[in-house]
Amino acid sequence: MPAAAPDNVAVVLCRPRYPENIGAAARAMRNMGLRDLILVAPRNPDSEKILKMATHAAADVARRAVVFDDLAAALAPFRYVVGTTARFGTHRQTVRRPREVARQVAALSVANRVALVFGPEDSGLTNEDVRLCHSLVTIPTADFSSLNLAQAVMVLCYELFLAVQEEKPPHMPRLATRHELDGMYAQLKDVLVRISYINPENPEYWLDRLRQFFSRVGLRASDVSIIRGICRQIDWYAGKRYRDGLAAGGGPPQDATRNRS
Ligand code: SAH
Repeated sequence: MPAAAPDNVAVVLCRPRYPENIGAAARAMRNMGLRDLILVAPRNPDSEKILKMATHAAADVARRAVVFDDLAAALAPFRYVVGTTARFGTHRQTVRRPREVARQVAALSVANRVALVFGPEDSGLTNEDVRLCHSLVTIPTADFSSLNLAQAVMVLCYELFLAVQEEKPPHMPRLATRHELDGMYAQLKDVLVRISYINPENPEYWLDRLRQFFSRVGLRASDVSIIRGICRQIDWYAGKRYRDGLAAGGGPPQDATRNRS
């Protein structure tokens, strides 16, 4: 088995506010052997300020950074996404520690592109951003929990660096991409609303629980195909029942009994 590949791990800075933090994050990445930097809607991508903090050694990391307007588009090709949050316990998702996550990422990165996502300095990642993450990590601190963005990047990159040096990572399968998962969740949402399993007023509540469940399992592309096939069949069957009901002269069938206890 090849050694864990940091080339498969990207740092994604979501809506960073200060160019100096982008430069300092690039430098931390270079220190720890990571090269793939992605910027999502940077608010002030002043290259002079970025390069000053990156220093000469990390200038290539900063210059080669790829810029996207939108986090979902940036994450589409990734197979595992880790979100970072200073706020412990505000999300329903379980929040883990860097060392444990770094070991998992080191193992996953042999066969999967992995993204480490960092939020903006002022407000952190939104709930919508967090929905795109398979897991969340918080760097433990004393009572003041909010690290400087580039320092948070350093802690994660350092733990990953150590984890990659450690013993041979266990085998981890190749997972579905974020793009494949997003298509599956859109289809699941449609079909589960259609059969009245989830409330059309607030579909994200139940979808978040499904997202957490599937993230724990770690779906592969073939698993996504099975789930999408089941959705298509449910959709077809619901349509058939509806048409059969109309043809028999009855009204449309009543809502299915909700069964989510
Ligand atoms: N005020 C924001 C903090 C943003 S700090 C909040 O309360 O969420 C900018 C980013 O640095 C965060 O979005 C996160 O990506 C990272 N970060 C800061 N402190 C962190 C911590 N203790 N653990 C993990 N990530 C942290």
